[in-house]
Amino acid sequence: MSRFLSNKYEDLEPYTPGEQPKNMKKLIKLNTNENPYDPAPEVMLAINNEEIEKLRLYSDPEAAPLIEAAAGFYGVGRDMVMAGNGSDEVLAFLFMAFQQKSGRFYFPEISYSFYPVYCSVFGAEAVKVPLKEDFSIDPSDYYGVDGTIIITNPNAPTGIALALADIEEILQHNPEQLVVIDEAYVDFGAESAVSLLDKYDNLLVVQTLSKSRSLAGARVGLAISNKEIIEDLNRIKFSFNPYNLNRLSILAGTEALKDVEYFNDTRTWIIKTRETFVAQMEALGFTVLPSKANFVFATHPDMAGQTYFEKLRERQIIVRHFKDPKICEYVRITIGTPEAMDALVEATKEILEEER
Ligand code: PMP
Repeated sequence: MSRFLSNKYEDLEPYTPGEQPKNMKKLIKLNTNENPYDPAPEVMLAINNEEIEKLRLYSDPEAAPLIEAAAGFYGVGRDMVMAGNGSDEVLAFLFMAFQQKSGRFYFPEISYSFYPVYCSVFGAEAVKVPLKEDFSIDPSDYYGVDGTIIITNPNAPTGIALALADIEEILQHNPEQLVVIDEAYVDFGAESAVSLLDKYDNLLVVQTLSKSRSLAGARVGLAISNKEIIEDLNRIKFSFNPYNLNRLSILAGTEALKDVEYFNDTRTWIIKTRETFVAQMEALGFTVLPSKANFVFATHPDMAGQTYFEKLRERQIIVRHFKDPKICEYVRITIGTPEAMDALVEATKEILEEER
């Protein structure tokens, strides 16, 4: 810490991203919920030399083609979409914009670990709402709260989805509060709350192209809501970083959103791979939480989460392990290609033999 750092940030505990290894040779990377398939073919074709030459020019602060493609895909008006440099930036903007009078944000105790960091960096109060014993969310815990609610659906790292009817209950019980649904993983089997935007003026949906569109490295996230809420987010964006998306990301995101067939094919493959993988893990004695995401959260009665994580690591397979005592017996495993999952299952059989 230098002597110049503002004392407001002395106690700030930054977010710790999942490991991004420098040398990927031989590694099976199943730790940060990336998509194992390439971006859509048109994305690859669009990023050509002509576009690279244009990098001397600023990008479009409106990200117009991307906004148009997103509005088209979701069937909403263009004034109902805003784009961020990854959904992490959209989240940062909304934590800045929507503290409301109480200064509180309500979210599940076990959820995306960036939310409490945003609260501390923007001086808001984090209200962590416990999950039920089976790791699901009880919607009634969020009825009549005083602050902004943010729910990841499906939740991370559990993978458990909330039904739209439950989200509607939360919206109806909080007409004066903003309800944010972070749908980073929604395309792998859950229902999107975008369809509720017509009915509720206190709903904001956050999405990303990192997972179901294979664009984690391009950094494209979206906010979808009514015109007024999007105007508020743009007010923050234009006060902070007007060219927040670079030219190549705008292009990549636009093309990815246009190729609906490729999107549907790849997410269907991932869902199928998940179902096969879950059955294999259960046959080996694992408990796997019911996942609607591109990852599963699994635990084995005879093996500590930390041990399993380390033994997979020794075999060049990286998954995610969280130190929080409430979930430290679990590991989170991203769904990769069928070949990657088979390799993980084989390694797991060996590890279980060793542990016996
Ligand atoms: N929300 C959740 C729940 C996530 O797990 C992630 C990915 N770590 C994000 C948002 C951010 O994703 P990105 O910034 O890549 O859009």
